[in-house]
Amino acid sequence: MVSAARGKPLAILGGTFDPVHYGHLHLADDVRRALSLPRVVLVPAGDPPHRKAPAASGTDRLAMVELGVEEFPGLAVDPREVEAAGKSYTVRTLRALRSEAPLSPLALIVGGDALAGLPTWHRWREIFELAHLIVVERPGMSIEPFSGELERELSARTTRDPSLLDRTIAGSVYHQPVTPYPISATEVRAALARGEPGIVKIRDMVPAQVLAYIRSHRLYGYP
Ligand code: ATP
Repeated sequence: MVSAARGKPLAILGGTFDPVHYGHLHLADDVRRALSLPRVVLVPAGDPPHRKAPAASGTDRLAMVELGVEEFPGLAVDPREVEAAGKSYTVRTLRALRSEAPLSPLALIVGGDALAGLPTWHRWREIFELAHLIVVERPGMSIEPFSGELERELSARTTRDPSLLDRTIAGSVYHQPVTPYPISATEVRAALARGEPGIVKIRDMVPAQVLAYIRSHRLYGYP
């Protein structure tokens, strides 16, 4: 889609953020710096359709993301999916952002692991009409090969030219190399459930304010 795009892309990183960790935060900030974006917005899902219910409530996950981004001046949070009723469909969020800024490029940041599941997302093809995809590699998880319709969409849309993300409002797929941060929320929850012995490790994985929130709200089975 070629059109009179205005300004740098508004980039979003959706996720469960159960809880937010430095993998998410550094990844978002690395992409922001690499592509000279004014900001990257983290969008915690309220009721994620693709996975079992998160361990922490939407309110708690949103509060933790808000605390986490305080260490990163270029990152922000959009609470709309937690505040909305019903399933959190990425396409719905992108439609809303598109109607708020019709000529602004939009970009959705996705880890390679999440990309593999794209064809299971609600109205996934429409996502390409609404936004670019910025794909980042997740340590330990290889991105390719894909097959079928996903492979066809990706190969037709993949570009090596990041300026396309500024010049058009949607429809390209760009792979952004980032420093690997081998952290997952699953690992963070497991370490928390172990209590104090896990805490030493946790300090490198989540911001101190997020850890303080987890402790004071007794989340994730923290004793
Ligand atoms: P869980 O372990 O509970 O599955 P998670 O750590 O994968 O959680 P999500 O909220 O599911 O976190 O991830 C949101 C997005 O961030 C996804 O696109 C995912 O691929 C990406 N992501 C999460 N952690 C990393 C990481 N360490 N490096 C790169 N991408 C990541």
